[in-house]
Amino acid sequence: MIKPLFSKIAIIGIGLIGSSLARTIRHNKLADKILISSRSTETLNRSIELELGDFYSVKPQEIVNDADLIIVCVPLGAVASIAKNIKAHLKTGAIVTDVGSSKKSVIADFKHQLPKKVHFVPGHPIAGTEKSGPDAGFHSLFQDRWTILTPIKETNKSAVIKVQKFWESCGSNVEIMDAQHHDNILAITSHLPQLIAYCIVDTATKLEEGLKSEIIKYSAAGFRDFTRLAASDPVMWRDICLNNRESILEVLSQFSDDLMTLHGTIEKRDALKLEEIFSRTRKIRKSIIDANQA
Ligand code: NAP
Repeated sequence: MIKPLFSKIAIIGIGLIGSSLARTIRHNKLADKILISSRSTETLNRSIELELGDFYSVKPQEIVNDADLIIVCVPLGAVASIAKNIKAHLKTGAIVTDVGSSKKSVIADFKHQLPKKVHFVPGHPIAGTEKSGPDAGFHSLFQDRWTILTPIKETNKSAVIKVQKFWESCGSNVEIMDAQHHDNILAITSHLPQLIAYCIVDTATKLEEGLKSEIIKYSAAGFRDFTRLAASDPVMWRDICLNNRESILEVLSQFSDDLMTLHGTIEKRDALKLEEIFSRTRKIRKSIIDANQA
């Protein structure tokens, strides 16, 4: 029998991402034991019913002391307090990683908390859905998706390689980059589209009642896709806005300028320019399909 990558993996936070990881670890036999922690007994009990792990506790410090890999899967605003809670309970040589959607903030939360005997490898799987909680996860979530690792200069190279192998064993492709670069890219590819969706759906909710029911009736005309995004967890997205604030503000300004240009182009009835903009953007869709990320 092939030895699993890690003997014990601790997952802190067992929502969509944490429970998908637990299922993938089990399905792909990546650890001997899975240890699970969640803040509420309700979520923890649900993860017990779903048989996602082998040991459970509401206290993260109770699951980390014997773990080789600790994966923090909580909203960004909760990362600092998790770091404080677990730092004194980690064993020598343990690897701590995370799945947070912004990386500079996670590094700031963890960097000065962890003891030197522990390796820290920040990470972010570019995979997800609009759903939350332990029932929402599934084992193929990371298959053929990308995971970005953003090690800092103090990060031990062999720990990075181990975390890379872990994600590859989950079916993911892995890219390593600087945290600032990650935050800039994600601001445009994930955070801006999400904010546009929230904004469009919010605009629709402010319309007069009669119009609202027609929006629901004819939503397949484009609006429906935005409502799927806008149904995402408000706490998670609040935290992303607060933790990737600078990069998000930069792309929002760029987007506002582009929107005003489009406004002006329509106002001037500039048919040629409209067609030029829409043809340019169509090519991006084709590249995403060609890259198997559609
Ligand atoms: P989720 O389904 O809402 O689950 C969140 C988990 O964190 C639950 O176990 C919850 O515990 C716990 N939690 C929530 N607030 C907490 C707090 N203040 N202190 C301690 N624990 C807390 O969330 P998710 O979608 O898995 O997201 C988790 C992380 O993955 C986030 O950092 C997010 O940025 C990142 N991420 C998400 C996606 C996505 O598409 N959803 C994709 C990539 C990365 P209780 O339920 O017990 O309260």
